[in-house]
Order: sequence, then structure tokens, then C-alpha cells
Amino acid sequence: MKIVDIVVPAYNEEEGLPEFYKVLKKLSDSLSEFEFRFVFVNDGSSDRTLDVIKDLASRDSMVRYISFSRNFGKEAAIYAGLQHSVGDYTVLMDADLQHPPELIPEMLKALESGEWDACGAKRRSGTMSRLFTSVNNKMSTVKLQPGATDYMCMSRKFVEAVMMLSERQRFTKGLFAWVGFRVKWFDYVQNPRTQGTSKWKFRQLLAYAMDGISGFSTIPLKLVTWSGAIICLLAILYIIITLIKTLICGIDVPGYVTTLVIILFLGGVVLLSVGILGDYIGRIFLEIKNRPLYIAESTNIEEETKDR
Ligand code: UDP
Ligand code: MG
Repeated sequence: MKIVDIVVPAYNEEEGLPEFYKVLKKLSDSLSEFEFRFVFVNDGSSDRTLDVIKDLASRDSMVRYISFSRNFGKEAAIYAGLQHSVGDYTVLMDADLQHPPELIPEMLKALESGEWDACGAKRRSGTMSRLFTSVNNKMSTVKLQPGATDYMCMSRKFVEAVMMLSERQRFTKGLFAWVGFRVKWFDYVQNPRTQGTSKWKFRQLLAYAMDGISGFSTIPLKLVTWSGAIICLLAILYIIITLIKTLICGIDVPGYVTTLVIILFLGGVVLLSVGILGDYIGRIFLEIKNRPLYIAESTNIEEETKDR
């Protein structure tokens, strides 16, 4: 019997998890040709999420979990979950039932047909998200599917490919796109959150979008070079014009505004360029330290099953 692992990152999801488990258990019972297992990753929740998970695990031997020593973020939780999944198929989904579980049978069917290596869910995206995707796709060789989420159902080889990308600063959606393979996309309408609140703030989303771009593209660095070159050319042109003007008309004293404008403009460009360079250097700095992506505090997964 083929094994399906359901990987679920969970941060402060105590209210939602029992319902999530119930819905998925019912679904998995109806798909008797597969054996379903759960890998819950408690991302350092400050509420009773871990107790809820432990309670589920004590009643159901198919529930496995890893618990982080603090909040390491969703990307780290996804990494840990995928790392501990051993199934023939792995489903990655949110704990809040916003990713409709009804898609899972269709996704599994597509993978079983052998025509596809992974199935992803995409939703009708909002303006911001569409804008980000189109900017990203212009800047990066890795093209994102508009509206794609990280709700994915993956074959073993797809998961293993994703795990080969061992970078610290993870942008899972981009990594999924990077590994390639044949991915079938399903449209879905996002359910409203039933319990709890969204864990993201606008600032975090912006940082996430930046991660996506600078993690996969060096085009911002090239833009710096190009704008530098263009500004140099303009400056040379300006010098020549001023020289000729001075030779013909003699020196005219007022020049205060032009000088000020040029100094301010160049200062701005230089600072911006330094900032962009700094962003990449910062990324190198974080990668080179090679810190673990997370520290697990407790788990019910034994070592052997982990490295199957
Ligand atoms: N999550 C996590 N760590 C975090 C933030 C979120 O593991 O630091 C989990 C959260 O429990 C949920 C999923 O990531 O299962 C998506 O979070 P959320 O629903 O808050 O995001 P949204 O749906 O608003 O994108
Ligand atoms: Mg959500």
C-alpha cells in the first residue's frame, strides 16, 4: 500500500488543529488504497498547539510530529516536515483548512497516473500577488505560476529534489518551481480561515517577496551596473556641454541649483546601489554561517525512520 504523508506547519493553531485532523482523517478513511500519515511541525507555538498534537499522537500512531525550540518561521517548518516525510507521496498544506482537502484525491489520482510528478494548487490571485509574480518572472529565470501557493502534493523524487536545495534562506514556492518536473496545477477557491488569525504582517509579506527576488535572481545587481553606466555617460555629456558653454560665454557664477541636484541625485543612486549590494552580501553572510534551519526540541519520530 502506498504511503501518503501530510506535512503541516503549525504555529499557534490550537483551536484549528482538532478540526483539521478530523476533516483529514475522514478524507483519508475514504481513500482506502493509501495509508495516510501526518507530520505536524510545531513551529515554536506559544499556545497549546504542542499539547493538541501530542494528544492526537497518543490516540493515532499515524500522527508524527517535530516540535521546534522556538518560532523559526513557516519556511523552516516546511523544511523540517519534508525532511521527515518518507511516504511515496507527500502533501504539504496549511493547518487552517484554507487549503481545501477535497483536492487531495484528485491530486493523488494525477500522480498515480504517472503523468505528473507533482500537483500544485493555485488560486485567483489578488492584485499585489499578481504584481509580485509578474515582477519576479521578469527578473528571474525561475518562473512562478501566478496564484501558486505552497499547497502541493508531491512524488518522492520531487520531495527529494527539493531537499537537495539546502539553502538557509528558503523561498519554498520558488524552490518548487526551480526543481522543474511535470507539475499539474489545480484551481481552487481559498476557504476563509475558520479559527485563529493569519500569522503574517504586511512587512513580513514584503520581506518574503524580496526574498523571492534576490534569492533567485541577480538582475538587481545588473540594474545597479547599468544605471551606474548610464549616469556616467550623462555626467560626461554634461561636462562637455558645460566646458563648451564656458569657453563660449565665459564663466557664469550661478550654478548652485544644478550642483545641488546632481550631488543629491548621485548620492541617492550610490546609497541605493550600496543597499542592493548589501542585500546580497547579507544573504552570503547568512548562508556562509551554515546554521541549522531549525532546532527541534521534541519529536516522536525515531531516527531510523527518518533516514529511510
Ligand atoms: N505558520 C508557521 N510558522 C509561522 C507562521 C505560520 O508554521 O511562523 C503556519 C501556520 O500555522 C499555517 C501556515 O503556516 O499552518 C500558514 O499560515 P497563515 O494561515 O497564518 O498564513 P496565510 O494563510 O495568511 O498565508
Ligand atoms: Mg492561512
